[in-house]
Amino acid sequence: MELFTIGVGPSSSHTVGPMRAAHDFAQRALAADSPPRRVRCDLYGSLALTGRGHATDTATILGLAGWLPERLDPDAVAAILAEVRATGGLPLGGERPIAFVEASDLLFHPRTFLPQHPNAIRFVAEAEDGTQLEETYFSVGGGAILRLGAPASAQNVAVRHPFSSSAELLARCVESGLTIGALVRANEEAWRSPAESDAFVDSVRDAMNACIDRGIAQEGVLPGGLRVRRRARAMYEGLSRCGPQRSPAEVFEWVSLWALAVNEENAAGGRVVTAPTNGAAGVLPAVLRFYETLVPGASRAGARHFLYTAAAIGMLYKKRASISAAEMGCQGEVGVACSMAAGALAAVLGGSDRQVENAAEIGMEHNLGLTCDPIGGLVQIPCIERNTMGAVKAINAAYLALRGDGEHVVSLDAVIETMRQTGEDMKSQYKETSLGGLAVNVVEC
Ligand code: SF4
Repeated sequence: MELFTIGVGPSSSHTVGPMRAAHDFAQRALAADSPPRRVRCDLYGSLALTGRGHATDTATILGLAGWLPERLDPDAVAAILAEVRATGGLPLGGERPIAFVEASDLLFHPRTFLPQHPNAIRFVAEAEDGTQLEETYFSVGGGAILRLGAPASAQNVAVRHPFSSSAELLARCVESGLTIGALVRANEEAWRSPAESDAFVDSVRDAMNACIDRGIAQEGVLPGGLRVRRRARAMYEGLSRCGPQRSPAEVFEWVSLWALAVNEENAAGGRVVTAPTNGAAGVLPAVLRFYETLVPGASRAGARHFLYTAAAIGMLYKKRASISAAEMGCQGEVGVACSMAAGALAAVLGGSDRQVENAAEIGMEHNLGLTCDPIGGLVQIPCIERNTMGAVKAINAAYLALRGDGEHVVSLDAVIETMRQTGEDMKSQYKETSLGGLAVNVVEC
């Protein structure tokens, strides 16, 4: 369930991950024998190329100052940063004042890609006695980080029904008599009680809904310089006024509105659920809201089942490929979110596990090759609208699968492997570098 974390926008790999890395490094520097007096950060590869638009610089500063995405109040960010910039210093880990001059202590290296991963960040702390502590981190997608040289973390906890492919997942479901969602819930018992898992999933669902509602309530222009106007509120007002003259596309318009609202919040640095990334954070909430609002008999239990099922599908992508746009392009973000939402919706509409797997497969099959080329390095164009497409496509994929009997030619495993190979073959211009596609064909004013 680590696929769902409640954090801040605009990017999981470029904002949430670096903030966590900086926070971790600050704790290590503070634990050293000699107290730190200065910290320098170097951003490499995709983090440097799109880091300004994705708020990697501010996230790094906030992490060094002791903040974590899940605890940060998005409304307090401007004041925290203003203080750091005005004083030329920050409270390392929230406790030890050190000098920090952004222009010289936070450097971008857009031409340098470290060999291990395109999203890399290196920290060096100088201690009072002249010794140095150096650590390199990789932001590997969805807000997850790896520290260079760190032992493999305790991910290998024994779960009751282990699976590493969709074929295995379906086999475990047959053996256990559990649905995909119920199997994930049972596996979670390796870490916490079922009641605690349900409470966590409820908090994810509530945060998704709160994000939609907050996005709908906002107006104005998104930050970053592209002058992209928020549309969710006007769209909501227009749809609410529809009256008896209803549009034949009304359902799709509502779904698009819900996705748009989330991604406008994300672009504004608001509180969002990483699902499985921030750039793709609107797809699952929009499809979940579709279920809760428009499907007769929808329930809180159904919403939990939706999220457990989505998590199972997301885990497969994480295990067998990647959810990092710097490695896979947008197929690894919006494509994966679409696949997760399609399978999850099929499950709560009463689909069999085979139909769920089919829906998830369809959700990805028609996102294969989707590139990541955000204009100005901002998570706005094409990202915001792209989530509306992902959500609508997910609903279509679920209903297509439900019209069948679960038998299909392309398996979910095959489409995940195809996504992985396509991502590897994709030129780096189209993988979160803003060096190709829309990013170079649309002039920023
Ligand atoms: S284009 Fe897709 S992958 Fe790239 S930043 Fe936007 S949402 Fe994320």
